[in-house]
Amino acid sequence: MNIPKEINRFCPKCNKHTIQKVSIYKAGKRRGTAAGERRHALRKKGYGGQKFPKLAKPAKTTKKVVQIFTCPECKKKTDKRGIRIRKFELVAK
Ligand SMILES: [Zn+2]
Repeated sequence: MNIPKEINRFCPKCNKHTIQKVSIYKAGKRRGTAAGERRHALRKKGYGGQKFPKLAKPAKTTKKVVQIFTCPECKKKTDKRGIRIRKFELVAK
């Protein structure tokens, strides 16, 4: 699916439509010191095989793509509920 690089969209901060830049959300880098990461490491420690079974047969074949819109006037970022697409491409329109 082709996603346009720029789109005319409502900005809640400017309270009007502006031509906003489109980018794709990416999850941030995981921190090893985060509570959940430490707990996970602690549970995996020691003997006793694999403790968290890996998903052998995932139900979904696609991942959700979340678009981030950046307003050029106030730099506010808004996002759109993720849509399931197999493949996407940012194209100039
Ligand atoms: Zn704005």
